Amino acid sequence: NKQIRIGIVGYGNLGRGTVEAIKKSADMELIAIFTRRAPESLEIDEPNVKVVHISNVRDYQEKIDVMILCGGSATDLPEQGPELAKLFNTIDSYDTHAKIPEYFSSVDAVAKASNKVSIISVGWDPGLFSINRLMAEAIIPQGENYTFWGKGLSQGHSDAVRRVDGVKDGVQYTIPADAAIEKVRSGVNPELTTAEKHRRVCYIVAEEGADQAKIENEIKTMPNYFADYDTEVNFITEEVLKAEHSAAPHGGFVIRGGETGADQNKQIIEFSLKLGSNPEFTASVLVAYARAAYRLHKEGQAGAKTVFDVPPIYLSPRSAEDLRRDLL
Ligand code: NAP
Repeated sequence: NKQIRIGIVGYGNLGRGTVEAIKKSADMELIAIFTRRAPESLEIDEPNVKVVHISNVRDYQEKIDVMILCGGSATDLPEQGPELAKLFNTIDSYDTHAKIPEYFSSVDAVAKASNKVSIISVGWDPGLFSINRLMAEAIIPQGENYTFWGKGLSQGHSDAVRRVDGVKDGVQYTIPADAAIEKVRSGVNPELTTAEKHRRVCYIVAEEGADQAKIENEIKTMPNYFADYDTEVNFITEEVLKAEHSAAPHGGFVIRGGETGADQNKQIIEFSLKLGSNPEFTASVLVAYARAAYRLHKEGQAGAKTVFDVPPIYLSPRSAEDLRRDLL
C-alpha cells in the first residue's frame, strides 16, 4: 500500500539521503527526481524513478502528492520554496535561522493561495532541536535553554580552511566543549558565549613545501571563523583525509536547566543526537514530515507550517490504536 507519491527537487547530499529514506518507508513511492542540471548527467541507479529537468515540473502536478525540496538554504530554497508551493505540497530544510520568519511569510502566502501545505525548516536544527527547545521551555518556564552542536563537520568552516594559502585540502569539526556541557548539566545555568561552548578542530593536507606554522597561524587567527575559539590544527596526508574524514557526521545537544516548586528543585531536560551521516538523518526527518504534509492536506489544511504545528501522530505510518498500545 504505497499510497503517498513523492518527488525530490535537487540531487545533492540531501537528495541522495532522501532516496534512501523513502526506500525505508513502506507507505511511500518515489516517482521522480527534478534537477536544474541535464537529467542524463546525474548518476542515479533507480530504474523506477524518472529523472526530469525542473522546467518540466508542472507535468507532475497530478502525479506527485508531496515534493521534498533538497536544495541549499543560501540561494536555492528562497527561490524554489515559494515557486514550488504554487504547485505542490512541499517539505524543506531551510536552516538560515535569522531569516526563517521572512521565508515562512513568503511560502505561506503562496501555499494559502494554492491550497497546498508547505512544512518549512524541517530537519534536526531547525527541526527536532526546535521542538525540544519549545517543550522544555513550556514545561519549565523558570530556566535556561542551551544548544551545543557537534561533533560535526562544518561545511562553511571547511571551505574557509581550504582557502588558506598552502592548504591543498582539509576539513573542520565543531566539537562541544566538555567543560561547558558539564557546567550546564550540573544545573548552575551559566552564561556561555558560542565560543566558550565549542572548540574547533581542523585536519589539513598541506601543499608540498608549504610552511605549516604559517598555515596554522593563519587559521587560528582568522576573524569570525576561528579567532574567538579554542582551535586545534592537525596536519595529515591526503590518504588519511580520504580514509578517515569522508563521512559527514554531526549531532549535538539541547539541554534545559530549570527549577520548580517553592523549594527550587532542579530539573534538567536533555536531548541529544549522534549522527553518522547528517544528510541521511536530515532526509529521514524530511520523509516523516512528508507523511504529515500529505495528511494535513487531505484534511483540507493549507499554508506554511513548521515542526511546531505538526502533531507527532501525523509522522507515524502506524495507526493511533497501535501507537497507544506500543509506544504510549
Ligand atoms: P548540496 O549537496 O550542495 O546540494 C544542493 C543543491 O546543489 C542540490 O539540490 C543540487 O541541485 C545542486 N548540486 C548538488 N551536487 C551538485 C553538483 N555536483 N554539481 C552541481 N550542482 C549540484 O547541499 P546538501 O548537503 O544536500 O544540503 C542542502 C541543504 O540542507 C543545506 O543548504 C542545509 O541548509 C540543509 N540542511 C538542513 C538541516 C537541518 O537540520 N534543518 C541539516 C542538514 C542540512 P540540482 O540537482 O538542481 O542541480
